Amino acid sequence: MSEARHLLSINDLGAEGIDEVLRLADTFVEVGRRPIPRVPALRGKTVVLSFFEDSTRTRMSFEAAAKRLSADVMTFAASASSLNKGESLLDTVRNIEAMGVDAFVVRHACAGVPTQVAGWLAGASVINAGDGAHEHPTQALLDCFTLSRERAGRLGVSPARPRVLEGLQVAIVGDVRHSRVARSDVAAFTALGAAVTLVAPPTLLPPSLEGWPVEVSHDLSSVLVKCDVVYLLRIQAERMREQYLPTLREYTATYGLTAGRARLLSPGALVMHPGPVCRGVELAAEVADSPASVITAQVANGIAVRMAVLYMLLGSGTALAAGGANDG
Ligand code: ASP
Repeated sequence: MSEARHLLSINDLGAEGIDEVLRLADTFVEVGRRPIPRVPALRGKTVVLSFFEDSTRTRMSFEAAAKRLSADVMTFAASASSLNKGESLLDTVRNIEAMGVDAFVVRHACAGVPTQVAGWLAGASVINAGDGAHEHPTQALLDCFTLSRERAGRLGVSPARPRVLEGLQVAIVGDVRHSRVARSDVAAFTALGAAVTLVAPPTLLPPSLEGWPVEVSHDLSSVLVKCDVVYLLRIQAERMREQYLPTLREYTATYGLTAGRARLLSPGALVMHPGPVCRGVELAAEVADSPASVITAQVANGIAVRMAVLYMLLGSGTALAAGGANDG
């Protein structure tokens, strides 16, 4: 990754690259705790947030990450842009790059757009912030980071130790078919040694799971009793063109992490969710707010992880050394 220009997929990183991001993110957690949580690592660089699809967490998290690294941040609002006058995405992107942009953070409802944008740019970097049902690599990185830190806390080992997810049993539950988070998480968790079981109704699994290093179950209760982590997914209604479920109530009754079902989890098990949570559908409110839930830790860790990604793609590698990091 340190040599790479873009982050489009978890597969761009592999286990070593993921490890590298996690180690660097540890440093940036410390920066976030300072009275002035800012380092000059990306001073003079410009990051443009180009979100063509709704977002709360990811957009704000990238904005906070870029600002904490002292980069200039520009926001591209697709709905108020010349795309509405018929300008092509190609021209839009090339014009923005001509303004001296160093990185595009791209979210789009169509799979493959960040890769296409990367191919059009002369020198700027692209970070995939979620493309259709394809990938959401920084979500997977922050999920690995959160798991490695939580696990390290429990085992009393250094969070920087590589492959700290070795042996972990992770259940990913819900709308895997339409989830970019599931695709990136499966790749990242298994690269770090975790075992993943997908739990979903047959209609919400991808048509083919060939090449997915996972087990599959349709019986949530039997998986909950033996997993270390249960990762809930939202039903991605915005990507559904046909009916995949009889009713949401039936879905919750069979695949929701209700308070009753959560009691099947072993004492140290963790509950995760990428957000936004639809309380009472895939996850009961009391479980989302219980001590087992690390959902807000995921969000908090997201800033440090995105700082690490931006720094690795854009940084010179020197600004953190020799006290430079203390420059507010
Ligand atoms: N925030 C995540 C995403 O953008 C998950 C979700 O929307 O359900 O994919």
